[in-house]
Amino acid sequence: MPYNPQFKSIFQLTPAPSVILLPDAPKFTIVAVNNAYLETVNAAEKDLIGKGVFEVFPENPEDRLSKGVENLRNSLNFVIAEKETDKMPLQKYDIPIRGTTKFKVKYGHVQNIPIKDDSNNITHILHSVEDVTDNKQLEFSLETEKQRFNDLYFQAPSCMGILKGPNHVYELANPLYLELIGAKDIIGKTVKEVLPELEAQGILKLLDTVYESGETFSANEMLFKFDHYRNGELVDKYLNFIYQANRNSEGTIDGILFFATDVTELVLARKKIEESEKRYKELIQNLPIATVCSDFEGRILIYNKAAVAMWGREPDIEKDKWCGSWKLYCKDGNPIPDELSPMAIGIKEGRKIPAEEIIVERPNGVKVNVLINPVPYKDSSGKVIGIVNMGIDITESKNTEKILRESEKKYRQIVETAQEGIWVIDKENKTTFVNNKLCEILGYSQDEMLGKDIYFFMDDDTKQIAGKLMQKKKEGFSDQLQFKYISKSGKEVWTHISSNPLFDEAGIYKGGLAMVTDITERRNTDEKLRKLNKELAEQIEEKEKRAAELSFSNKELVKTNKELDRFVYSVSHDLRSPLTSILGLISFIEEDSNEPDTLEHIKMIRASINRLDGFIKNILSYSQNNRIELETQKIPIKKTINEIVYSVRNIKEANGISFEIDIDEQYPFYSNWHRFSTVLENLVSNSIKYHTNKASGRYLKLTGTSDPEELKLSISDNGIGIDPEFHDKIFEMFYRLPGNTEGTGLGLYIVKETLDKMQGNIEIQSEKGVGTTFNIRLKNLKV
Ligand code: ADP
Repeated sequence: MPYNPQFKSIFQLTPAPSVILLPDAPKFTIVAVNNAYLETVNAAEKDLIGKGVFEVFPENPEDRLSKGVENLRNSLNFVIAEKETDKMPLQKYDIPIRGTTKFKVKYGHVQNIPIKDDSNNITHILHSVEDVTDNKQLEFSLETEKQRFNDLYFQAPSCMGILKGPNHVYELANPLYLELIGAKDIIGKTVKEVLPELEAQGILKLLDTVYESGETFSANEMLFKFDHYRNGELVDKYLNFIYQANRNSEGTIDGILFFATDVTELVLARKKIEESEKRYKELIQNLPIATVCSDFEGRILIYNKAAVAMWGREPDIEKDKWCGSWKLYCKDGNPIPDELSPMAIGIKEGRKIPAEEIIVERPNGVKVNVLINPVPYKDSSGKVIGIVNMGIDITESKNTEKILRESEKKYRQIVETAQEGIWVIDKENKTTFVNNKLCEILGYSQDEMLGKDIYFFMDDDTKQIAGKLMQKKKEGFSDQLQFKYISKSGKEVWTHISSNPLFDEAGIYKGGLAMVTDITERRNTDEKLRKLNKELAEQIEEKEKRAAELSFSNKELVKTNKELDRFVYSVSHDLRSPLTSILGLISFIEEDSNEPDTLEHIKMIRASINRLDGFIKNILSYSQNNRIELETQKIPIKKTINEIVYSVRNIKEANGISFEIDIDEQYPFYSNWHRFSTVLENLVSNSIKYHTNKASGRYLKLTGTSDPEELKLSISDNGIGIDPEFHDKIFEMFYRLPGNTEGTGLGLYIVKETLDKMQGNIEIQSEKGVGTTFNIRLKNLKV
């Protein structure tokens, strides 16, 4: 087509802003620009001609949403490819303001029209713009805002929606909300229809209140329970949310806007952290070890019950520093200043303090030994922000240790001062311990004994016995036996050994312990003792033999005695009758004879016969006393005495003697009457017999008292008396005082013997020429 210069003028004047471009993609060189275009883009022709369209109209870097350049490129490429006109929808195309870096916002409808030659090849592209910037700018921005709202609405990370009317009908709800409640197709339905479970939770009421009052309700981390899977199982959801009344153009409330953020995961995670923190706190609280946590300044943040018990006080949290105890001391007792406490050093130097023993003083003055172990703790950047300290009360174990030490000392003392040797060996029979006493017994030093085999201290014979015993010991047997060792000087040492096997914790034999007593001396003494014992036994045997013999002779003697008694009795008895007959015959001679010599001889015969009769009577009494059993009866004391006195007072010798009888018979007296009479007859007849020949004042007194226990009697005379030198003798058998030819010497012997049988006794008080008193005591043998 021939070039017609008019066409250029016509083009220049066309009202639609237009540009002619070459189809030289991707540059799209500008070859012609009309006036309207120059006006629209506020440029001169020379600024544009020959330049690529995108070179002169680049993208506005300040509007990242703008897609003007991209849209235009797509459109131009479409025109080249399809050789058809492309009508672009309303475009925002920002125009650079020449000489600045700024852009001017422009809106327009754009058409790109291919200009083809005869061969249907595109020679140019007419890019024509209908600038609607003024009219369309508002409309466009509205559109854009709507688009933005939609984007926000659908892509917002929060749930949102609109409820309409008093029944809260869903008008709008974004996908996130639908996801939250687990429902779709809710638009047009009421909240009650979609989420009936919310009624019981008071949410519907809340919506009513917001709708009626117009007041916004907001809450954080409020718990909602949604029937998310529509199976009746409610799922917990924590929401931060706002219900806000929506007003129409007239200002009346016509609905509610809601915004909610699902913070369930956050809340649950936090709850988990809280729970784990609580658990940790509880754990720390109940730890049996005193635990305290301080901040960088040392202020106590956390402490537990065990710490309070250790300190004896409750610290002021965030106020008291470091340990929490009243006072701190070093192990040696020196006070520790706060800034030098192990905790302070741990913080300052940012290092773990190795276990250290300190002394904590409580307010009541009690001190406890504590093992502490401060460990600093750091924040995520590694900076020390505090210190954790744990303290173990070791007072008791220290005391126990002390007690153990003392007890060990005591045992050591016992072992060392023991009077028995102590010998410990290992399983190889090697000596591992000996005390001083054992060294003393065997004459070795401890060093000489340690490590030595036990057989070293034995001779060949004992080695064999020991070998057998050791085997038994290994099998767990304890022993007690006498055993021979050889001392360092080669002497035999006899010992008594009690030994026990020793086993380790697994019950395996690990050696033995023996207590050794030196019995060498005892053995010798024992030997002597055995000898002595033997001799003694022989002597005893001899004595027993003799005793048996004696006992036999005794029996014989008793038998003979009895026979003798019987003989004496029968002889005495039989002798008396011929004597009585002789006396009768003598009486005849006296009557018939006037011979003075004969009468004198008869008188002498009578006296001799009387003496003989007296003698026989005495022997009879003696014999009776031995033979007759002691028969006890009540004795009328006064009566018996009176009868005896009566029978003697008329004899010749009794002439001129006054008899005084004074018996206080208060209690009945029991004894053997016959013997009682014998005793009294003898004593009374003696008193008469051995009286003086004084003309006057002669007396014989009988006094006595009886009580439940005994009878006391006194027979007293003022006769010739007895010299004290004979007092003991007169009770002997056949003893007569010198010069006495009358008596038999049997009377007092019989009295003594008889009183012995009657459980009585006799005493004499007598002086020659003064008189005699016999005191008798007789046991009252009452039944
Ligand atoms: P007998 O009278 O038969 O000689 P006794 O044994 O009765 O034997 O007495 C021993 C002696 O004690 C008597 O010989 C007498 O000398 C002396 N004797 C005993 N009783 C009295 C008495 N009451 N007064 C003085 N002498 C007495």
